[in-house]
Amino acid sequence: MDMPGELINLISIIRSHNRWRGLECINLIASENVMSPLAKSAYLSDMMHRYAEGRPGKRFYQGTKYVDEVELMVSKIFSDLLNVKYIEPRAISGTIANATVFRVLSNPGDRALVAPVQAGAHVSHTKFGTLGALGVEHIELPFDKDSWNIDVDAAIKLIRSIRPKLVTLGASVYLFPHPTKEIAEVAHEVGAYVVHDVAHVLGLIVGRRWPNPIHEGADVATASTHKTFPGPQGGLIFTDNEMLYKSIARVIFPWFVSNHHLHRLPATAVTAIEMKYFGEAYADQVVRNARAFAEALASEGFKVVAESLGYTKSHTLVIDVRNLGGGAKAAKLLEEANIIVNKNLLPWDPPESVRDPSGIRLGTQEMTRYGMLESDFKEVARFMRKVLIDGRDPSKVREEVIEFRKRFLEVRYTFKVDINSLSDIKLPLIY
Ligand SMILES: *Cc1c(COP(=O)(O)O)cnc(C)c1O
Repeated sequence: MDMPGELINLISIIRSHNRWRGLECINLIASENVMSPLAKSAYLSDMMHRYAEGRPGKRFYQGTKYVDEVELMVSKIFSDLLNVKYIEPRAISGTIANATVFRVLSNPGDRALVAPVQAGAHVSHTKFGTLGALGVEHIELPFDKDSWNIDVDAAIKLIRSIRPKLVTLGASVYLFPHPTKEIAEVAHEVGAYVVHDVAHVLGLIVGRRWPNPIHEGADVATASTHKTFPGPQGGLIFTDNEMLYKSIARVIFPWFVSNHHLHRLPATAVTAIEMKYFGEAYADQVVRNARAFAEALASEGFKVVAESLGYTKSHTLVIDVRNLGGGAKAAKLLEEANIIVNKNLLPWDPPESVRDPSGIRLGTQEMTRYGMLESDFKEVARFMRKVLIDGRDPSKVREEVIEFRKRFLEVRYTFKVDINSLSDIKLPLIY
């Protein structure tokens, strides 16, 4: 039978995407990353076809003995890497991790205090997202623009007067660590739990370049496994509190997952093992690159936020492009030059400017994985100046970007080995 045209067309669309986003773009989206070839191979296993409802050893289906082993491995490796007692790996995304924890800690009608959206709180923390879907009222914590952080004194007053069920920390524009210790002390005083959402910085925590919130007094942490932690898309919950862990394990299934996307688990385990050996070197370079990138952008003439604070301590930096036409226009022009970023609200933007905010957000984690160093980010800053400040034709700059990107095609911080050679069993792992 001749191949149907729609199939040929589909394959060509996928190839175009892979070539463009995988080989020809400089990706600076702060919430994305790439898996190593080893982890990608582990992703494509028969586990992608299976179900394993329940917990290892207590499943509702037969045929899961190897899935159980891998799932226990994921929990064990993360428990060691994070130095925490309990890991719940079944959340299929950071949002599902948040939904589970919020549901465990609050009932409809309860109140939660959250970091303000303009300062980078995730939509899942708000009435527009998961918290709203659960019927929990959200009240924003006060933000201090000068320290680019939660205003601790004002937050303490608010916690004492509102007496919320939970307080969430963590954000999607996460330049400096939030004051976990100070907030946790007061939250616990009024009987509230502290949920610290480290979706963006899990890889930096594992690489010891960002504080672990559990060790600073947070009751439970939620995360994504695909942002600075360079694994497959998925979620993670961790805590030292046994009672909380047990409630979380009872609530996530059957309330928030049935199938927990089993092919994630081997790839997550491979990535966690890579991070055990290469995590510190990787996280260190990510953070150095972010600082160097911020300095380079500032010297090219960009308004990088938080200058007086040293710009950033994470993988993320933010530039104010209001005087260059705004975030929407800047992000679009950069895309035409194959530089992929997202527009972002700045703390002083009104919420209704979400479609054309003043900022763009940049992250160094993915290009660091491809081997970029400080001097390479200086080059990226120059490309951005050409497009946004010099007003050069983005399609001309695109040619330079494609040429430049050819030097960064191989994922570093991994083991260079063919996954099929790692076992005596003469059966290809992927089939
Ligand atoms: C990305 C993000 C999430 C959600 O993660 P998904 O895995 O995309 O569901 C939650 N919280 C914060 C702060 C995030 O940045």
